[in-house]
Amino acid sequence: MHSVVIVGAGVFGSSLAWWLARAGTAVTLVDQFEPGDPRAPSGGESRLIRCGHGPDPHYTASARRARALWRGLEGECGEELLIECGLTWFAHREDGWEAQAIAVFEQQGIPYERLAPEAGARLFPSYSPAGLAYLLHEPEAGVLRAQRAVRALARQAVAHGARLVRATARPDGAAARLDDGSVLEADVVVWACGAWLGRLFGEHVAIQSTCQELFFFDGGPAWRGPGVPAWVDFEHAVYGTRDIDELGVKAAPDLDGPALDVDAELPAAGAAGEATARNYLAERFPALAQAPLLSSKCCRYELSPDAHFVAAPHPERASVWLLGGGSGHGFKHGPALAEQFAAALAGTAALPPHFALGERAPGGTLRTAGAIL
Ligand SMILES: Cc1cc2nc3c(=O)[nH]c(=O)nc-3n(C[C@H](O)[C@H](O)[C@H](O)COP(=O)(O)OP(=O)(O)OC[C@H]3O[C@@H](n4cnc5c(N)ncnc54)[C@H](O)[C@@H]3O)c2cc1C
Repeated sequence: MHSVVIVGAGVFGSSLAWWLARAGTAVTLVDQFEPGDPRAPSGGESRLIRCGHGPDPHYTASARRARALWRGLEGECGEELLIECGLTWFAHREDGWEAQAIAVFEQQGIPYERLAPEAGARLFPSYSPAGLAYLLHEPEAGVLRAQRAVRALARQAVAHGARLVRATARPDGAAARLDDGSVLEADVVVWACGAWLGRLFGEHVAIQSTCQELFFFDGGPAWRGPGVPAWVDFEHAVYGTRDIDELGVKAAPDLDGPALDVDAELPAAGAAGEATARNYLAERFPALAQAPLLSSKCCRYELSPDAHFVAAPHPERASVWLLGGGSGHGFKHGPALAEQFAAALAGTAALPPHFALGERAPGGTLRTAGAIL
């Protein structure tokens, strides 16, 4: 394989472009927007990186591998993209998702601490252990500066020889036809179109675009401390981070949001979502109950029915591949997924069978009731 066209410069496409260009492949990376555009799911300010994926060993190992590859990218570009502040899971039951994650951590040698609920008082500036059975703390997890990371991936791909083209593309047989009428051909064409993948290849993949709300509160200097971990309450479907880059303390309700056309403007976040975020903060971090709201917004999820990624050849055209289905948890995996995908293109390793095209049953182990984290 000497040449690859990748349509989509989100985290999946840009990671693949970086990976392949570094290995000497002639890469053309096409996107309708600039890499990191906030209209795409990869364009947000921050994304969690954690190994905990309940009972799933594949995503756990992938997140761990991705951590090393993100560090490699940082080494190349000289930017701090991964903030290793740790991440704390708030476990409500002894036998829940967190216990399943611990069993996988033990098998894979992933560092973690199992703490009494009260130990949260030394991790967070304000904290209540109400309702918790224990804490699962991942000291080497944290937060990725998402938009900057996507831009760094695309920039480093170009530094390794990739060509970045700003255009909208449509499938044309095994090629990609751009909106100026030109046609891009290559040994392989990868459609890494994220939220737009379902519209381009709806007969093979079901991707739903939904609207998810984010809220940023002024928590004061204590919440800017570098040691304050990110956090996830899987059962209550809420997650957040400390104040990073003075954007405010982030709190995000993660229940499935309303469907949103992929080309629709992102609406403003609503009062109901803010109330959900505030109620959670009031319970878990009482000092934030009345914190002023600094900003809020809606972002676009791209959900596969079972929240598993999509990474597979087109059933009728062997040189055309589809890549996407990040489903609210894809960002962290970008470079590790690129490594696996490149091996599959080279024929040296197979992708997991659950990344295949075709019918998928809704639900699965990555979801809590009505939410994905
Ligand atoms: C609010 C929010 C919070 C999230 N939190 C986390 C988290 O904490 N941790 C985590 O790991 N993940 C998280 N995710 C998920 C993660 O961000 C996404 O799964 C991931 O960014 C998807 O990347 P992608 O490259 O597949 O898709 P996209 O970001 O959608 O990129 C696809 C690109 O393809 C381009 N494109 C599409 N069609 C065409 C076309 N026809 N021609 C040219 N270009 C085209 C688009 O412009 C876009 O740039 C979150 C997502 C959101 C929205």
